Amino acid sequence: MSVPHAPQDTTLPIKGSDQRFPVGRVFCLGRNYHWGTPDAVREKPLYFMKPASAVIDALGEIAFPPMTDEFCHEIELVIAIGNGGANIAPEQALSHVWGYAAGLDLTRRDLQKAAKAIGQPWEAAKAFDGAAPMTPIVPVEPFGHAEQGAIWLSVNGVERQRSDLDQQIWSAAEVVALVSEYITLRPGDLIMTGTPPGVDALQPGDLITAAIEGIGEIEVRVGARA
Ligand code: MN
Repeated sequence: MSVPHAPQDTTLPIKGSDQRFPVGRVFCLGRNYHWGTPDAVREKPLYFMKPASAVIDALGEIAFPPMTDEFCHEIELVIAIGNGGANIAPEQALSHVWGYAAGLDLTRRDLQKAAKAIGQPWEAAKAFDGAAPMTPIVPVEPFGHAEQGAIWLSVNGVERQRSDLDQQIWSAAEVVALVSEYITLRPGDLIMTGTPPGVDALQPGDLITAAIEGIGEIEVRVGARA
């Protein structure tokens, strides 16, 4: 019997280090910024997942995925977990955070709309090759926590998304606590924390520039359709 040789684990660069961060699971929050009128009730956001294999370095060209005519950008703060745990209290949660990154929650929006319309899950929309380009991880030691700072994204030099981390409905600490209510977090897990308004479609050849102040900058070009 010969067992299959699985691909190597996904890793991300670490700012200021030659070591790489081992990526575990990738949890993604739904709505975490106000899009228009503030919600009257702070309802718990949904979360979904992307496979670790979807995480790539946000460099160079990103592939235009198959099976979509509406390929969309979402710039998001990414939380990297250092210490795992379940039912983590919000006031303890930041001690579980190892670092932060800027990431793109790339989305096949047409497939997401179709899934939403009939109550199906979102994997086809959210989990595909290259669906989560990310900057290097910025470690809390010595760089500190990401509690405020501009978050923005432009396409071909035209700004489409802009907010500030302090506008998140759920703070990084609250996000860690919330996910840990549903599943035991492990070292290496990543949490994408939701995107500001302004998400829109990308075309082959588009240049995406994006950043989170103090965390990282992204410059990638959208590749041709397969
Ligand atoms: Mn998102």
